[in-house]
Amino acid sequence: MIIKYTNFSDGIHSFQLSDLVSNLGLEELFVGDVIVDCKMDKSIHQIVLDCDLSVNAKLVCDRCAIDIETNLTSHFQISYLFSRDTVKSDEYNVKYLSADQEKIDLKDDIYEYAELSIPLKSLCNEECKGLCPQCGINLNENKCNCKFEPSHDVWEPLKKLKGKFNN
Ligand SMILES: [Zn+2]
Ligand SMILES: [Zn+2]
Repeated sequence: MIIKYTNFSDGIHSFQLSDLVSNLGLEELFVGDVIVDCKMDKSIHQIVLDCDLSVNAKLVCDRCAIDIETNLTSHFQISYLFSRDTVKSDEYNVKYLSADQEKIDLKDDIYEYAELSIPLKSLCNEECKGLCPQCGINLNENKCNCKFEPSHDVWEPLKKLKGKFNN
């Protein structure tokens, strides 16, 4: 994930970078290649990179716990300012390139943005019925004879409690 920007003239350039997830240290959660489509806007004072990242992740359904493989995407923009000295930037999306640096290494950024693309909630299917709370059977594949009222009301225990107090 290295861009040798000295090879590019000023102006806008589009290119694609890709690397194996294992080369980026992302093999725990991801599979295959990380693909990054970049648009680079290079001028005298700075380089602006506009990137779309795409990678396949191995996730687990929050309801039925089966393994799912899903494509995740992430978009990010980073500005690199040319500077005489090596400066550390506090800003998230602004970095500095010193005169002796001829390339941009995107490895750490790719790692970060791939991790950020992981959703907080993952479902194998929006309609996933989940597991039976009593026998643990996968209700998408099988039916069981357990008697339970399917309830998604998270406030139910509180309502019951409230009922007790009111009586
Ligand atoms: Zn599921
Ligand atoms: Zn059951």
